[in-house]
Amino acid sequence: MTFRLLLIFAWIASTGLAAQPDSSYHRALKLMGCRFDLTVIAADAKAGARYLDLAVGEISRIERLISSWDSASQTSEVNRMAGIRAVVVDPELYGLISRAIGISQLTDGAFDISYASMDKVWHFDGTMTAMPDPAVIAASVDRVGYRRIVLNEEEHSVYLPVAGMKIGFGAIGKGYAADRARALLEQSGVKAGIVNASGDLTAWGKQPGGKDWLVAITNPLNRAKAFAWLPVDNRAVVTSGDYEKYVTFDGTRYAHIIDPRTGYPATGIVSATVFAPKAELADALATSIFVMGTEIGLDFINQLPGVDVIIIDGAGQLHTSAGIDLQNVSQHD
Ligand code: ADP
Ligand code: MG
Repeated sequence: MTFRLLLIFAWIASTGLAAQPDSSYHRALKLMGCRFDLTVIAADAKAGARYLDLAVGEISRIERLISSWDSASQTSEVNRMAGIRAVVVDPELYGLISRAIGISQLTDGAFDISYASMDKVWHFDGTMTAMPDPAVIAASVDRVGYRRIVLNEEEHSVYLPVAGMKIGFGAIGKGYAADRARALLEQSGVKAGIVNASGDLTAWGKQPGGKDWLVAITNPLNRAKAFAWLPVDNRAVVTSGDYEKYVTFDGTRYAHIIDPRTGYPATGIVSATVFAPKAELADALATSIFVMGTEIGLDFINQLPGVDVIIIDGAGQLHTSAGIDLQNVSQHD
């Protein structure tokens, strides 16, 4: 039986009671190419709407900075100038690129924002009918490699030294945006809320009434029925799953996450859910676990303090890191 994880989030709708000082306000919209669900706790609807507007503005701002689809973004400029010259970028983008390279070092290259040139070889939208030519796959690796990205800290410039080399934030950008939106809301005085970018979420504070926010772990064969609810107390929870974007050749299922060192997509994991203090790290690590595989991935996460993972492998087996105790969480029917 195949189990897959689907994170949904629970919020208690406003009760409307006069005795209840704060209520939760919610908005769902498409940003960064995915669905964002925003929840804030506020004193009244007007304040709630103002906070939600702030979060939407922040996520849109980040999208304009990091999107590689938007030709006007600084990221696109860095990609256009590959093999030509360095590009001076905002300190914020420079910081994100530096931290992404740090995660590449931590994961021994399983995570690599320069994977992006391989997007020309693999398509996970149902249009591929045959395995790409091995020579083409091998050649795609030539333009990949975080070690080659040239950073200049003083002028915060970025240079991709090989023509055709590209960076992309598909595996870290949503997590970063969730962290930034949360930080802005907290600074603005919002005591509790959830920023959920299609399963990449960060939550802080408590629900009205004092309960922890919960994430549901569901059986995809019956998504309406959660088999466990886990509390998220000031943490981020991010799921990478292959159930929406994958291709199957000769009975092997290839995920939309590519091993930057070989050029081949990851196999063997159906979903990886990472718990970490920040969504940016959780996002990047969830992607990395796919590339590492179950055994190495678990071993890796068990060495990181404050980070946990739940993996579901291709055979439907559930694997958890040392800090996860599914026996002790409430089971619901
Ligand atoms: P999702 O939230 O879509 O399940 P992830 O956060 O795991 O996905 O990111 C997957 C995306 O990251 C891919 O669609 C691609 O854009 C990019 N990507 C693929 N492989 C890697 C990799 N090894 N390192 C960094 N980014 C990757
Ligand atoms: Mg990711």
